[in-house]
Amino acid sequence: MENKPSVLTDRYEVGRLLGQGHFAKVYYGRSVLSNESVAIKMIDKDKVIKYGITDQIKREISVMRIVKHPNVVELHEVMATKSRIYLVLEYCKGGELFNKVARGKLREDVAWKYFYQLINAVDFCHSRGVYHRDIKLENLLLDDNDNLKVADFGLSAVAECKGPDGLLHTGCGTHAYLSPEIISRKGYDGVKSDIWSCGVVLFVLLVGYLPFYDSNRTEMYRKIGKAQFKCPRGFSLEAKRLLYKMLDPNHATRITMSRIKESSRYRKGLHLKQKKMEKQVREANLLEAGGGSGENHDPPQLVTLNAFDIIALSSGFDLAGIFGDVYSKQETRFTSLKPASEIISKLEEVSKSLKLKIRKEDAGLFKLVGSKEGRKGILSINAEIFQVTQTFHVVEVKKCNGDTMEYQKLVEEDLRPALADIVWVWQGEKEKHEELPRGLENEQEEQEPSSSSAIVAGT
Ligand code: ATP
Ligand code: MG
Repeated sequence: MENKPSVLTDRYEVGRLLGQGHFAKVYYGRSVLSNESVAIKMIDKDKVIKYGITDQIKREISVMRIVKHPNVVELHEVMATKSRIYLVLEYCKGGELFNKVARGKLREDVAWKYFYQLINAVDFCHSRGVYHRDIKLENLLLDDNDNLKVADFGLSAVAECKGPDGLLHTGCGTHAYLSPEIISRKGYDGVKSDIWSCGVVLFVLLVGYLPFYDSNRTEMYRKIGKAQFKCPRGFSLEAKRLLYKMLDPNHATRITMSRIKESSRYRKGLHLKQKKMEKQVREANLLEAGGGSGENHDPPQLVTLNAFDIIALSSGFDLAGIFGDVYSKQETRFTSLKPASEIISKLEEVSKSLKLKIRKEDAGLFKLVGSKEGRKGILSINAEIFQVTQTFHVVEVKKCNGDTMEYQKLVEEDLRPALADIVWVWQGEKEKHEELPRGLENEQEEQEPSSSSAIVAGT
């Protein structure tokens, strides 16, 4: 990643280096069209493959698309060339919160303001089934109005990644912020582990150093396991109480998000402006979820895909070169320009004519089950509809049980012709139409370092 482009697709001027992580370099950028400042996260395809973090990057992009919140760094768009992936992000002028605290503990009201914004953002992510798993000061950025923005969703997990026990199992995050249950490698609850890390952040903001630290890692883990920390003298009782509840080593008794929000210290002295913002977010979410009363924690009706997924999934804009072979004998996809309702009725109609039982498993997810025993049991297929825009969907067809040959035969000989009316293009087929659906632009070959050549898609 030595030579950064000075211009990206004629649309962004690329400036100075803002920061660097394990896998990415982040540069300042400016939109040529609107003059707006952005941050451009550049990820080398080589590194992605070398370190096997394809899924991690994909997840980061998908997750950022789901969680749009005033305290979460916004993902504007995704671009890809043969050698790199570019995430165009909201620019956080204030940099890392870490740098502020590195100069010493914060004023109490300032610390509580950031904590309030952190909890709001993390709670929102949880309501969308997303757990961050790497909450630490280095991943909390500040915008030019000194508002906190949660960044770096590279390690985040989505609810679907849970094991059969409903708990997450991959150990991740940064040592000093890890919860006892992650360290002990028991399955853990993503919500409760994020709450623990938020507790560590609150402590650092108020005190200026880490609650659990030791140069010997084993010793540090021992302290974390016992939640062995000390609040310095002069610490307010309310703050202490909340910290002990958040840094409870037993995740089952650890405080919940709603309890944190009810706690007296949390409610006290909130700026009116923030309360107003909280209300706006709540209302916006309700609107998005289609109205209703009270808190709505239901996931959106259909899973919405981001530009990157579309690029990766849809053969018309095939980026298989980036992530290797995306084709599998047991699954295929097609894009459709029909509304979801029409796709669903077609699936129902076709299932009936093919003597398959169809069952709704979840919003947008249907199971098609054969009527007779096959070579490897009864054939069953999942058809999942992902929404890109109101009238652009990607449907994933995946074998979940039965013989692969039987599945392939059914797809090729029966499903494909029967679904012809609603399919725009099947994976692997050349696109039928020159024109792309609204909101998606697709471009041709790569021509680094500048030019209008990268594949671009708005999210
Ligand atoms: P990690 O090593 O933590 O996995 P990473 O490679 O995923 O990191 P990020 O944490 O996303 O990369 O970004 C690296 C650094 O770049 C950040 O710590 C921050 O200093 C800077 N940075 C990232 N995003 C932005 C942004 N939107 N605005 C300003 N600076 C940013
Ligand atoms: Mg980071």
